[in-house]
Amino acid sequence: MEKWQEIISKSITDSNALSKIFKIDKKKIDKVIGKYPMKINLYYLGLIKKRNDPIWRQCVPDEQEIRLGIGKKDPLLEEKYSPIKGLIHRYRNRVLLLTSNVCAGNCRFCTRKRKVGIEYAALQERDRIRAFRYVKKHRGIRDVIISGGDPLLLSDEKIEYYLENLRRIKHVQIIRIDSRTLCTLPQRITPNLCWIFKKYGPIYFNTHFNHVQEITKESRRAASLLADSGVVIGNQAVLLRGINDDVDALKQLFEGLLSMRIRPYYLYIPDAVQGTYHFRVSIAKALKFMRGLIGYTSGLAIPHLIVDLKHGGGKTPVLPKYIVRHEGRRYVFRNFEGKKFYYADIY
Ligand SMILES: *Cc1c(COP(=O)(O)O)cnc(C)c1O
Ligand code: SF4
Repeated sequence: MEKWQEIISKSITDSNALSKIFKIDKKKIDKVIGKYPMKINLYYLGLIKKRNDPIWRQCVPDEQEIRLGIGKKDPLLEEKYSPIKGLIHRYRNRVLLLTSNVCAGNCRFCTRKRKVGIEYAALQERDRIRAFRYVKKHRGIRDVIISGGDPLLLSDEKIEYYLENLRRIKHVQIIRIDSRTLCTLPQRITPNLCWIFKKYGPIYFNTHFNHVQEITKESRRAASLLADSGVVIGNQAVLLRGINDDVDALKQLFEGLLSMRIRPYYLYIPDAVQGTYHFRVSIAKALKFMRGLIGYTSGLAIPHLIVDLKHGGGKTPVLPKYIVRHEGRRYVFRNFEGKKFYYADIY
């Protein structure tokens, strides 16, 4: 067994095991995990410094998950946009593959809470062949996202199998891996895995850090290994109440990521998913955070703020307004410091 597999195999999944480490109300935890399972691997658990800190809140079940019944199980209508099992085709030229539904831990705020970590359901050989055939047939698809769950919980052989088959399809120009392991289980980024990425590169890798406390010696080492193999790394963070809803926390996170060659890509407003409402942050607040970042840190450290619209509306950027008004060609801007500037546009 590889080291990462060993760490996963010892994950905390029941209230008894958790109560040996922290003082908790077992009954309350049991009620929540009856609906939404718990899984905390020992590496990630080790990042908790104190109760209710940003790591704790991401992984320890909370009663609020089951108290409010509001929200949809699948607000993005992912099921509707699945022409075949395990493949979501929402945007014309790119598809997302749900290769398995397990992760290195169950994040309490997960958008795919309806299926992630519930019961093991990796794509079977038959479905994989159908997915490759689908991509091959639809010549407009130029970007394939290998996602899940977490695709890096698959073995190196399976990952290589996906890459090999996708690379054979001429019109697929971009292959992306969506994995949180770089943050939650950096031991998964092994030299052999990086060698596979190099062989089938260029690989774009989107990971998911939400707080600077997740940046460790181990994750830095893993990011280095990946970047040295030519992998282009981005980060998709989620804005979460009580975790990172603070401009300084976001600034530290994004600047920390840049220092390890990870480019902040998206910052998501949380989706309206049942069981995650206590994490939600308003758009007004999110815009305030963006104002606190734009102009105050390197542009490289600033992700796009995105709301993934309900009913499958798709990812849509949300930007603070810097244009105050315009009449024809005459624009009035307010810069990041709030000062007014006039601008005459060209004809
Ligand atoms: C997020 C997502 C993509 C990729 O969107 P980008 O804006 O290109 O990063 C593609 N398909 C689905 C179903 C997605 O959810
Ligand atoms: S790693 Fe991603 S898919 Fe997995 S539980 Fe966390 S948020 Fe959900």
